[in-house]
Amino acid sequence: MERVLEGRTALVTGSTSGIGLAIALAYARAGAKVMLNGLGAPDAIAAARREVSEAMGGEAPFSDADLSKPEAVRGMVAAAHGAMGSLDILVNNAGIQFTAPVESFPDDKWDAILAINLSACFHATKAALPGMRERGWGRVINIASAHGLVASEHKVAYVTAKHGVVGMTKVVALEVARTPITCNAICPGFVRTPLAEAQIGPLAKEHGVSEEVALTDYLLEKQPSKRWVEVEEVAGMALYLAGPNSGAVNGTALSIDGGWVAA
Ligand code: NAD
Repeated sequence: MERVLEGRTALVTGSTSGIGLAIALAYARAGAKVMLNGLGAPDAIAAARREVSEAMGGEAPFSDADLSKPEAVRGMVAAAHGAMGSLDILVNNAGIQFTAPVESFPDDKWDAILAINLSACFHATKAALPGMRERGWGRVINIASAHGLVASEHKVAYVTAKHGVVGMTKVVALEVARTPITCNAICPGFVRTPLAEAQIGPLAKEHGVSEEVALTDYLLEKQPSKRWVEVEEVAGMALYLAGPNSGAVNGTALSIDGGWVAA
């Protein structure tokens, strides 16, 4: 792979699995120094760190900051500066989901989703921008969702948070528009991750259909392509936004959803 990020430093939140890990790997292979962040089983975290360190050719720094806590988010950005000397690329990726109708949606799930999926992006961006302005270059990339542009029932907190992320992306973009910093959002449809794939079996059982039908007719009901988006495809978009030819792309919400929001 062309080393288009040689000399750059990046922090990818929620990079111990799924989309975040794929982005961290793509950045490391493109020559960036990458700091990882995430929660989870120590074994899984160690495996993710090993994989990214190998791609980087050196130990990948790691922050176990719990992004539901603003102080921890600020501490993570400071740690990134400490470990890498700078922070050129911030990818706000960490996110959680919970589904229930509005009337029975638990208050604590609402608070957690808003804190992790939305407020953490604000606190991290606020902490990272001064350094980017000082060095005269920067990329803020927010992993939103098709649910940042359209709604689905039973996802009130997630859809609210992701619409907020798209709105915040536009404000930050306007505020940095006269500088070599950009801020953009990526809006994936259903992406193949272990968690998402695990929903197929129960859906097939619930509707009495094969797993293939459960995938196309139920899980990917809104995705016209009827196929998963792959994590590597999202990572490719994140690499483009961090790379040398994207300086005029600012304040956009780029869809990668098999046609979902075109419908
Ligand atoms: P995932 O569950 O595989 O990964 C989530 C990551 O976030 C993990 O590393 C986890 O440790 C981290 N995380 C969760 N809570 C945290 C906290 N409090 N503090 C720090 N880290 C925390 O999920 P994924 O599918 O890879 O999703 C990544 C992002 O992409 C999320 O923002 C999600 O909303 C978004 N997204 C996913 C899909 C999809 O279909 N998978 C579609 C659209 C958008």
